[in-house]
Amino acid sequence: MKSCTVLAVDDEIYNLEVIERILHGKKGYRFCKCTAPEEALNIIRKKPVHIVISDQRMPGMSGIDLLKQVFKIAPDTIRVVLTAYPDLDEVIEAVNYGHIYGYITKPYLPQDLFAFIQQARRYFELNTRNKLLVKQLRQKNKELEKSNEELKKLDELKNRFMLIASHELRTPATIITGSLELFAMQEEEFSNFQQNILHNALKGAFRLNEIIESFFTVLHLEKHPENLNKTHFEVEEMIQMLVNRAEPHLRSRRLELETRFEKGLSLFADRRKLYLVFENLLSNAIKYTPDGGTIIIGGYTRNQEVTIFFQDNGIGIPAEELERIFDTFYQLEDLKFHHSSRFEFLGGGTGLGLALGRRIVEAHQGRIWAESAGEGRGSTFFVSLPVKS
Ligand code: ADP
Repeated sequence: MKSCTVLAVDDEIYNLEVIERILHGKKGYRFCKCTAPEEALNIIRKKPVHIVISDQRMPGMSGIDLLKQVFKIAPDTIRVVLTAYPDLDEVIEAVNYGHIYGYITKPYLPQDLFAFIQQARRYFELNTRNKLLVKQLRQKNKELEKSNEELKKLDELKNRFMLIASHELRTPATIITGSLELFAMQEEEFSNFQQNILHNALKGAFRLNEIIESFFTVLHLEKHPENLNKTHFEVEEMIQMLVNRAEPHLRSRRLELETRFEKGLSLFADRRKLYLVFENLLSNAIKYTPDGGTIIIGGYTRNQEVTIFFQDNGIGIPAEELERIFDTFYQLEDLKFHHSSRFEFLGGGTGLGLALGRRIVEAHQGRIWAESAGEGRGSTFFVSLPVKS
């Protein structure tokens, strides 16, 4: 505050002049005075006053009654009463009720009055700043609420898109795949060129079906996480099946794959859904590891949990992305480099695999997370499921 206006009210003009003298020449203060409470109220109605000092005993209206009215007109003003000892009880009550900021007992020393005024001024400034901060906080809060609403709407839109896509694309995709499979039955009648086209079209159609299926599974699991078809199965056997399927790609990319499983490790879980989780983790380990790299898949039981891990020495994941990669449609790579593939280096995909994985694992009351020492330093994905889920 550049300048602080102090208004003094007292029916004794001499008392007013004493205060005027105390503030005279003090930097940053403006002084005005009046001898009647009504006059004081008029001044406050017309111009900003920061501190009002009123005598308690005045004809017509007490200082406290005047300050109560000041509060109604300008609640932020700092209201101070000058009082003699006999009136102290009433004055203290007014402080306790918040009608006035404080009081000064008469007689007072000039330096004490000035120190009191300075303290009152600091209080005024602090109060003003706090109110501004609260206002800004409220504003920010409103903005946050608005952004949150928008995010919710976007999330709903995303879910609607997935729902429509999975429903509307399902039938045409099945027709296309079925027709291509019919063609494939008479493959020998086609030229090499035609066979090549047919294989590529079939590959694309299968991938399309997989994507539609993953949209559907994500949505379905969100609505019915309890819908699991649990059976007992050997984990290593399932992983071996996945590895066998990926063998040609591992070979062409010169990737070394090692397995380290505790003997007889088994799970009681939805086999088909966990297959999807592990399939995605293996395909990611292959996609995000440069040619010639190493992948280790293993599993163990500890603390009533079965943990399966997929470790690679690939491109790694920055610490700040370790959680976000589990968001629906989240991908670290720039979309312009996008070329969906399950095994090519940096093959990209839909950004749905890990989101789907998390939903499946959490539906089993388990945990899935990633660890990485950073970019270029490999990643390990862990899936932990309760032994008795
Ligand atoms: P996508 O279909 O894009 O692979 P995912 O949900 O499976 O979708 O993975 C999300 C993102 O997480 C990927 O785009 C990639 O950036 C990152 N990611 C997943 N697995 C690995 C890995 N083994 N190494 C490095 N980054 C990975």
